[in-house]
Amino acid sequence: MASAAAGTLVVGAGAAGLCLATRLRELGDDQAITIVGDEPEPPYERPLLSKTYLRGEHDRSSIFLREAGWFQQQQIDLVTGDGVVEIAREASGGTALTASGRSIPFARLALATGAAPRRLMVEGADLDGVVLLRTLTESDDLARRLRQAGDVVVVGGGFIGLEVAASARALGCRVTVVELTGHLLGRAVTPELSHFFRQAHERRGTTVVLGTGVSRLTGHDGTVTAAVLTNGTRLPADVVVVGIGATPRTVLAGGLGLDVEPRGIVVDRHALTSDRATVAAGDCTVSPNPFSRGLVGLTRLESVAHADDQSRTAAATLLGHLAAYDTVPWFWSDQGELRLQIAGLPMGADLSVLRGDPASEKFSVLSFRDGLLIAAECVGASPDYVAVKRGLEKGMTVDPDAAADPSVPLKRLLTPL
Ligand SMILES: Cc1cc2nc3c(=O)[nH]c(=O)nc-3n(C[C@H](O)[C@H](O)[C@H](O)COP(=O)(O)OP(=O)(O)OC[C@H]3O[C@@H](n4cnc5c(N)ncnc54)[C@H](O)[C@@H]3O)c2cc1C
Repeated sequence: MASAAAGTLVVGAGAAGLCLATRLRELGDDQAITIVGDEPEPPYERPLLSKTYLRGEHDRSSIFLREAGWFQQQQIDLVTGDGVVEIAREASGGTALTASGRSIPFARLALATGAAPRRLMVEGADLDGVVLLRTLTESDDLARRLRQAGDVVVVGGGFIGLEVAASARALGCRVTVVELTGHLLGRAVTPELSHFFRQAHERRGTTVVLGTGVSRLTGHDGTVTAAVLTNGTRLPADVVVVGIGATPRTVLAGGLGLDVEPRGIVVDRHALTSDRATVAAGDCTVSPNPFSRGLVGLTRLESVAHADDQSRTAAATLLGHLAAYDTVPWFWSDQGELRLQIAGLPMGADLSVLRGDPASEKFSVLSFRDGLLIAAECVGASPDYVAVKRGLEKGMTVDPDAAADPSVPLKRLLTPL
């Protein structure tokens, strides 16, 4: 094993950081690898924090992405509970300084710093019982609070907000979701899907308030007791969960003088940053759309699939194998017993085709742009999801009229472009 100075430093021990280091080893890199993560735990499955883990369906040890001995076996030095606070870059390599004073020399640098949840900027947001959800520690804390709570207000009707709402409801809480815009799940999904999830959550007893913000949070003895909405409604709250999106963590990249925009560290198709030596991957980046089908421009994707796929590309780039990141994006969200799977990106669609009846909670929405299939959003319809994902990967499309008939399997309708 070569000295650390010849090796790779990966900043961030989340999905992207771990996958990048794993891929370096798979590609035969035998240089030193150091992953530095500022959370106390080794890498874990973040998506479970709002779902099964929050509901107590897993024990803590089963959430970690690698067995304890794996890092040693792979000769990967994992540093946890210590953040990189400064990086000095030289022509080749550099040195990183951590919060605890550790100095880590490196030859190659990868940024996988993820994103931080947005805070609610209203009076009372610092009361006890007002919580964010990004880390394992926060999920443990929220789980404890939900077990003692009656009324829960979820601020933000995005994926995390709705997943938490479903979990809180399963734990016996009365749940209200308050969403500032007029629809759930933002612009990342079609209006049909957004409408379905509103009805599905309401059917299960969640109150959904759209087009309304939170103007302040009130409390007693420092603990939250109510959320006051912009329309004057006062909602009792033992817990307020803030799920209003996440901001990419770009401070280190900014300090290095890399191109950074509000949506993330700018990288190209090879996951290379503007200095053409540092790579970045995962939630901290904004990158060319990996699956454009005509839609150009930089895209910010926040998903495990993106973190994994982009970091694989980044690892190859670090080793000098320049391959483009052009994987078909995919995503899933479990909201209670409802499983949503998305293949492709529905943004910019000019036609949506519904397959099946949303009232049955088993249906798909297929999105098209300029006559080409660009995405499928599938609820309880895994065969549709698998068919579209494979079809998009092979460069195929379907005829929109034929696709509307749910009795014909989609895989039979796929045709080459
Ligand atoms: C509650 C929740 C549920 C989710 N559910 C889904 C889902 O169902 N499906 C899906 O596809 N995606 C889901 N996601 C999104 C998914 O988890 C992220 O897209 C993915 O984790 C991104 O991986 P990442 O490695 O880029 O970032 P992260 O997982 O955020 O990892 C980055 C790590 O870097 C650390 N770090 C940052 N700066 C420093 C520094 N200076 N020094 C050291 N360490 C640093 C951070 O603390 C963090 O541990 C969910 C996210 C959350 C929070």
